[in-house]
Amino acid sequence: MRDIDKSKPVLVTGGSGYVASWIIKMLLEKGIDVNATVRDASDSKKVDHLTALAKASTGKLNLFKSDLLDRGSFDEPMRGCELVIHTASPFFITGIKNPQEELIRPAREGTRNVLESARRNPTVQRIVLTSSVAAMYGDNADIALTSDGIFTEKEWNISSSAEHQPYSYSKTIAEKEAWTIANEQERWDLLTINPGWILGPSLSKRKDSMSIGAMIRFGDGTYKMGVPELWNGIVDVRDVAVAHIKAGFTPEAGGRHIVVTGEATLLDLANILRKHFGDDYPFPRKQVPKFLFWLIAPMHGFTRKYASRNVGIPIKFDNSYSKKDLKISYISVEQTVREHFQQILDDGLLKSPIRM
Ligand code: NAP
Repeated sequence: MRDIDKSKPVLVTGGSGYVASWIIKMLLEKGIDVNATVRDASDSKKVDHLTALAKASTGKLNLFKSDLLDRGSFDEPMRGCELVIHTASPFFITGIKNPQEELIRPAREGTRNVLESARRNPTVQRIVLTSSVAAMYGDNADIALTSDGIFTEKEWNISSSAEHQPYSYSKTIAEKEAWTIANEQERWDLLTINPGWILGPSLSKRKDSMSIGAMIRFGDGTYKMGVPELWNGIVDVRDVAVAHIKAGFTPEAGGRHIVVTGEATLLDLANILRKHFGDDYPFPRKQVPKFLFWLIAPMHGFTRKYASRNVGIPIKFDNSYSKKDLKISYISVEQTVREHFQQILDDGLLKSPIRM
């Protein structure tokens, strides 16, 4: 049981990211001060929305420059904090040339770096780590390894490696490292938030976040020939932010938390978009046969093993623990998708409609 003092600043790592920006907004609006770490505080595209949020809120924002691979760079921003929310981690799944250096080392060493700062800092009481359902499974085919055909917090990803699904591997070993370090001491406790695929409106106009890029591709014609039958657990970015904050400030909360609203295929998402935005955009209308996707997968940055072990395999998540432990009531997938695409249009991230 850790009762976090709300008058102390909360450290949020990766402050300029898609998820962290919502966490920071909600904390500032509650009047809670935030120490946010960013890689480049002079990059206005990454920080202007944060400074604007701070101006409109009662909480105070302090920006610090930290890098996951720069040992000790989280010491100063963590000073005086009881709660640490560690979201920073490289997030991309295609175009990876050196998985070790691009994903695995920053995820694992970065987590170690942040948690070692906490070990040196006597004020820290609780750490909330942004993990992922990717730490619970690597491929959709792993659903066959579960006892009841549903992913729960008991599961660990045992199928990913540096060669196959390296992002999922990076999240798995980073979370394992965090539990190892947490279990070596008793001053602070660790909670993890394990979201599915996060969608929903972004607070910045950045396009380089995976979630934003994917939603733009639904509307820019990239998928107009069709999408593979890929099932994902979906969750709204605002629910993910709420989950982190409740995890931080609910003394009796603990453990890992699957944070997923429901499951959907890529075509389900396209159908929601068509329902709300009509035929002005080239949203996909059909699913590409599995054998065809398997054949062309390498041209789209996926391996054939990925196609074999994921396409056409439905998955299911048990979100009952997050509802019980963190009292989350989830935004519907339909609302999430609609409001995300609307934000992309409002922010001019997608140029004029391409008629079908
Ligand atoms: P994002 O917008 O790309 O944010 C990633 C953040 O990590 C950025 O702030 C980035 O800094 C920071 N970062 C990356 N490498 C770093 C390094 N070497 N040193 C310091 N900071 C570094 O993506 P996101 O969706 O918000 O992801 C946030 C967290 O959620 C990640 O841990 C991700 O694994 C997890 N997650 C995301 C999803 C999803 O669908 N989006 C699902 C499950 C879990 P810059 O701003 O400087 O680039």
